[in-house]
Amino acid sequence: MSGAIGILGGTFDPIHYGHLRPAAEVRDALRLDEVHLIPASVPPHRPAPVASADARLAMTVLGCAEFPGLVADDREILRPGPSYTVQTLQEIHDENPGRPLAMIVGSDAFSGIASWRRWEQLFTLAHFIVIDRAERPLVLGALDPALKIQCERRLTTDPMRLSRQLAGAILRLAVTPQPISATALRAALAGGVEARERIRGLLPAAVLAYIDRNQLYRSVPDAR
Ligand code: ATP
Repeated sequence: MSGAIGILGGTFDPIHYGHLRPAAEVRDALRLDEVHLIPASVPPHRPAPVASADARLAMTVLGCAEFPGLVADDREILRPGPSYTVQTLQEIHDENPGRPLAMIVGSDAFSGIASWRRWEQLFTLAHFIVIDRAERPLVLGALDPALKIQCERRLTTDPMRLSRQLAGAILRLAVTPQPISATALRAALAGGVEARERIRGLLPAAVLAYIDRNQLYRSVPDAR
């Protein structure tokens, strides 16, 4: 998809290889120019993040540095108020007229998009690239009925379809599974030495060093 921009939003609390490697694989598979990783300031659809917005942005910058073509995008952190994806996509669309946008989402996040603000408008702004998370795969029968209808109209396994239009397709793309979750990482970081040793290699060393330096996730009771 020449000229296309990938977008991966999230809390990135903290960022890990389950975010970074799929983003890099999607970029290679679809020949995207770049993928923007956009930490949410105030995510409207889930509990408040544990680390501050600035810390999550700093970790995103450090994580992206390991992967050519992945760039940290601070627009949601800088924008006051809740981070609505529809607004973010509209901004990127307006800044890049004529370039296709590919919104990358894990299957767990995609299953919930019918609760996002003006969610049907999202398909006019971007393609969706859905990555199956092993523990929470996409089950069409379990989706919100209106989202299921959109999937029936738009779902494709043919990446070529994305080149023929600027937005509106939903591509289910298989990437190497990364069984890593930020919730489990936070629990390990708050745990003992052994738990910390187990997570080495699940996130970039520079991100882990930042977490240590700033004493993040030390004794966080995680209610999620
Ligand atoms: P938690 O694991 O605590 O639920 P999370 O990493 O899913 O946190 P986010 O940072 O908001 O939370 O995730 C950003 C995006 O990355 C979402 O679309 C999510 O589905 C996707 N994602 C997160 N982890 C993985 C993974 N291991 N494999 C594929 N996609 C992932």
